[in-house]
Amino acid sequence: MRRRLLIAGVLAVVLLVAVTSGLYLVMNSRTFQVAGRIVPRVDTDQKVVALTLDDGPSERTPEILKALAEAGIPATFYLIGNELAVHPEQGRAIAEAGHELGNHSYSHRRMVLVGDDTVREEIERTDAEIAKTGYQGPITVRPPNGKKLLALPRYLSRHDRTTVMWDVEPDSGKQATTDQIVDETLAKVRPGSIVLLHAMYSSGAASLAAIGPIAAGLRARGYRFVTISQLLLN
Ligand SMILES: [Zn+2]
Repeated sequence: MRRRLLIAGVLAVVLLVAVTSGLYLVMNSRTFQVAGRIVPRVDTDQKVVALTLDDGPSERTPEILKALAEAGIPATFYLIGNELAVHPEQGRAIAEAGHELGNHSYSHRRMVLVGDDTVREEIERTDAEIAKTGYQGPITVRPPNGKKLLALPRYLSRHDRTTVMWDVEPDSGKQATTDQIVDETLAKVRPGSIVLLHAMYSSGAASLAAIGPIAAGLRARGYRFVTISQLLLN
């Protein structure tokens, strides 16, 4: 009897570990979610690449816009609703410069184990702030920290919204120099790649400085920069 209990106990633990690690993988996966379209990269032979910039807008926006203008490339900005509310002029400047705006939630909270009402509010309030910038193009969604589980994918699927992830992340979770960011990007970009950079805060100086060399390096390799919605047409 005691032995049977022990076996049952061990099985329960094994099952719990399996379910937990499965949920963990799904939460962080860049290629799978329970519902709706998720795009980490577009499958194409065309040498097209999309640069995406997460977070903000902040007062560093003008410097980023200047770097993009000098490089002559478009970008897609995944903006945070409550930061747009604080810096509406920066959001307008991004829209006026002709870049694409995306939804990165209202509060940048983890969109995991959240209810349907929270998801709706996080997405719709951010859409409303994006609309105030004058931007009228398509608005794709990137979950904060790339994490999603059930309610967010369900909501996005129901509203026919695309979740956009990335396949090249040269400055995520590490202190990289500009050279390292450029080198990793040039080494990893493939046709249809989506590059993620963080240049909006003071910690993003190396990434900001990498924009020009990345644009030059990829152009030299025959790549053309497009926005996310243009990339999705491939
Ligand atoms: Zn973010």
